[in-house]
Order: sequence, then C-alpha cells, then structure tokens
Amino acid sequence: MQGLMQDVPLSLDIIFNRAEQLWPTKRLATATPSGLEVVTFGAWAERTRRLGGVLDDLGVSEDGRVATFAWNTARHLELYFAAPCTGRVLHTLNIRLFANQITYIANHAEDEVVFADRSLLPLLWPLIDECKTVRHVVVMDDTAGRPDAPELPSDPRVLDYEELLATASPHPFGVVTDESTAASMCYTSGTTGDPKGVVYSHRSVVLHSLSILLADTLAVGERDVVLPVVPMFHVNAWGLCQAAVMGGADVVFPGADLSPEAITRLIVDEGVTLAAGVPTIWMGVLPHLAGRPHKLRRVVGGGSAVPRSLSETYRAEVGLPILQAWGMTETSPLATVAFTRSERAASTGEEALADLRATQGIPSPLVELRIADPESGERLPWDGATSGEVQVRGPWIARQYYNDPRGDAQFSADGWLRTGDVGVVSPDGYVRLVDRTKDLIKSGGEWISSVDLENEIMGHPAVAEAAVIAVPSERWMERPMACVVLEEGQELTADELRAWLAPRVAKWWLPELVEFIDAVPRTSVGKFSKKDLRARFSDRRVP
Ligand code: ADP
Repeated sequence: MQGLMQDVPLSLDIIFNRAEQLWPTKRLATATPSGLEVVTFGAWAERTRRLGGVLDDLGVSEDGRVATFAWNTARHLELYFAAPCTGRVLHTLNIRLFANQITYIANHAEDEVVFADRSLLPLLWPLIDECKTVRHVVVMDDTAGRPDAPELPSDPRVLDYEELLATASPHPFGVVTDESTAASMCYTSGTTGDPKGVVYSHRSVVLHSLSILLADTLAVGERDVVLPVVPMFHVNAWGLCQAAVMGGADVVFPGADLSPEAITRLIVDEGVTLAAGVPTIWMGVLPHLAGRPHKLRRVVGGGSAVPRSLSETYRAEVGLPILQAWGMTETSPLATVAFTRSERAASTGEEALADLRATQGIPSPLVELRIADPESGERLPWDGATSGEVQVRGPWIARQYYNDPRGDAQFSADGWLRTGDVGVVSPDGYVRLVDRTKDLIKSGGEWISSVDLENEIMGHPAVAEAAVIAVPSERWMERPMACVVLEEGQELTADELRAWLAPRVAKWWLPELVEFIDAVPRTSVGKFSKKDLRARFSDRRVP
C-alpha cells in the first residue's frame, strides 16, 4: 500500500518563497568599510529574482556552475538562491585555498562565471586565464569607494554586479521539479589530499536547513539575529544562512573584516543572538567580549575541536559556554551537536558537564552514526572506550564525489560515508573524536591517538604547539614522532619531555623521536598539515 501524501519536491523555492511572503521586513545587515548596509528580506528577494534574470542574460547554461569568490555579504546570499532557483549550481570557491587548488577546482567544476568581491580581485584575477571555462567575472564592489580599492581590470570579461542587476528582469523561479537536482557544490579543503567536489541537492539543502531550526541542534528561529563568522565559501557557512532565510532570522554578515574587534562590535551593537565560527575566532574574540553586555544565546564552535578550557572561559567570562558541532564538507556539514541531554544535566556535576560539552556531540535527527574498525570494517560498540572510524548516513550526507573515482574508497560498500575521523561513542550517543584515520599510529598492533598524545605534550608549560606523526619501525610497524614548537624563550630537551609524559600516558606511547621545529606547517585553511610533516621527516625510522 502506498502513502497518499503529496509529493512536493523539496526545492530551495520553498525556502525562498516563504521568506518572500512571511519575512519581508526582516533584516540582512552587511558590515562594509563605510558602515552597516541593511536590506530587508523583501528587497533582497526582489534583487535575487532580478539576479536570476542576470544569469539568463549572461547566457549561463541550464545547469551551469555559478562560482562565487566572496566574503559573507547579503549579495552573496542573493547568489545562494538565484543560482539554484533558476536551475543552476552555485559553486562557492574557497578564497583561502592555494592558487593551484583554486584553478584546479574552477576547471574541474567547469565554472562559467565567477561573482567576485572587488576586494578579492588581487587574489582571483592573476588566475583567471588558467580558469578555462570562465567567461565572465562579475564584480561586487565591497570597497565602499575607498581610495585603496583594487583597480578594475580593463577586460571585456569584467562586468559590474549592480549595473547588470539594474537592467535585468525578475525571474519567476519554480523551474526545479526534481528535488535531487544539484543546488550547490563545495570542494573539501584538501587536508588529507587533493580537493574533492561535494554536490548538494535541493532536497539535501532543504532538509539540512530544517535540521538547523530544531531545538536540540542550533535552534535557529524567527527571534534570532544570526552572525555567521564561518565563511560562506566554507561548506555554505555551515548552512546557517539558508536556515536563517527559512526560519526568518535576521542575519548580520561580517564582510571582509574578521578582526576580533569587528566581530565583537557586531555582536554587541547588532544584538546578535547566535554566532558561529571556528575555535580560533572565539579565542581572538574572548578578551574583547568578556564583560561586555550582549544578547548571545548560542556561540557555536566547530571545524576543529573546541578546547574544553576555551568553552569554560566563555562560560565564566561571557556567560555561556561554546556549543560544539561537528561535521565536514561531505556532511553539509551539520552532523552532531553537543547539547546537554536532560538526564546528564540532572545527574552530572559541573566538571562532567564541561567534559560533555568538549565532545563533538550527538547525531542530529535523520543522521545515523556508527563506529567501525578502520581496517576490517567491523562494527564497534558504543561503550565510551572503544575507538573506531566514525561513519555516517543520512539525507544530507554525500554518497559520492563529483567526477572523482579517487574518492570512492571513502564510501562503504553498504552506503555509509567513512569520515576518516576516529572517535569513541558513549552509550547515550556522545561522539568524542580522538584522531583522523590517516593520523592514527599503529604500534605493535595497538592504536595510539596522535591527538591525545599532542594534547599531553601541549600541556607542558614550555610547549606552544605539537603535532605527532607516525614513523616506520621494523619492530613495531609504526612509532610516534613528536614535532614540538616551544614557547618563545623556553628550553626543553627530549628527555625532559618524556619525563613529563611518563606519568600521563601509557609507557608504549612515549615517543623515541622528538624534533623541535619552528612552526607546525598548516594547510591553506589553517589546520595542521601532517602531510607536510610526514614528507619533511620521511627519512626517520625507529628500529
Ligand atoms: P577537510 O576535511 O578538508 O579538513 P572540512 O572543512 O570538511 O575539510 O573539515 C572536516 C573535518 O574537520 C572533520 O572531518 C574533522 O576532522 C574536523 N572537525 C570538524 N568539526 C570538528 C569538531 N567539532 N571537533 C574536532 N574536529 C572537527
């Protein structure tokens, strides 16, 4: 027997139409060098429809890729809807990638047009001839007439956003009838290899947006003022902007100035209730925000582990801890959120609750999660002790990369995404990540967590940062090697470090090799690049 409910395609039109009808007076505010620019949702919707007309006028093909190279702005949000609602595919280029990665991605996705902020032209323009399929560069002037604004190249490919919009006719939208049609795409940042393309469908974006409105995830709602510090070029600003449009929340876009002072000013002056960004951002903002009046109800952190101490300092000095979330490009990205379950809140002390907030959280509704042995694939128990590769499945989780068979191994035979993250799960579903599969060290048949070892090393007062990699060993297969950066003016020997670690970790975890280095190499998006460390120390061996 079939269900008899309407089969309405879950397309972005549903989100857009709702905002146009229900929230015409809500505000989208963008920070610019000359102050805050505010548009209402009503005016934004009208511009977005005309932008749909611009894409027609430019001759972008039916499912053509519309790239953006832009900060978080209300204009960028116009593109977020105009491209998919006219059947095209939004492709947010990550401005922080290396030049060769950007051209690789633009060519791989076959971008036809790039919408770029004027302030970013110095990064984009030198690459443009390498981007073989790009026919137009539409410049969005975000410089507010400043004298130091980058010059506009005199080239027939360069067009002005506002000029195009002024003469375009509004598009009726409503062309997407198949909800599995591509809406947007993002490439991974390539921490563990070349960037790979993830293609979101209309259906996945709608369901992911809806999930962000739920009380036990980020609870974005009509009463909120949302500040996405996380870039719109990095996994769609974690889906927050689309969720805000769906839910009718005001949005404050930080534009190009991501300094702690600027972010703090927006939080305080604009009455921001929910702000989201990576832990580094919250570290920078802390001294500015501490003790200031604000309306924040959630500070969301993710992208890398939120240190327990940072979250606790926020609790003490800002009045609320950081709400940790976990996900990746392949998961849209929101997959788990560390909200406090009521049983835990009732029965656990403050210290344990802080530990709980330092986990990556429990899976969102519609996301299924399991852990498995990274080699045999055997499913492992949720006992709070056994660690395994985190695997997820759900309607906003990728099933394949775009035109890239190299990535096939990341999907299990039974259709789950192998995240490459290694974690333990408590019996009540809290995931705690301990490593990435590629960074785990297998010594004498047992796993050593590089993350746990790094944390213990970084606990030494003389250590600024540390990264642990595996080196080959004849006897043990692999052994850990510690690459340590000392605090300015501090001294430490390998033996002193081992003496510090001895009471803190298992004896067989103690690294024979300790190398003092000037800095841990980082990827273009600021994560530790163990790939580079492994290459640099590829000659090291432990007997
Ligand atoms: P890349 O995989 O190229 O680094 P992503 O931006 O997709 O790009 O990063 C996803 C990865 O970031 C996850 O697989 C995980 O390793 C890490 N990550 C994300 N959120 C968290 C978190 N809350 N705690 C720890 N690690 C996280």
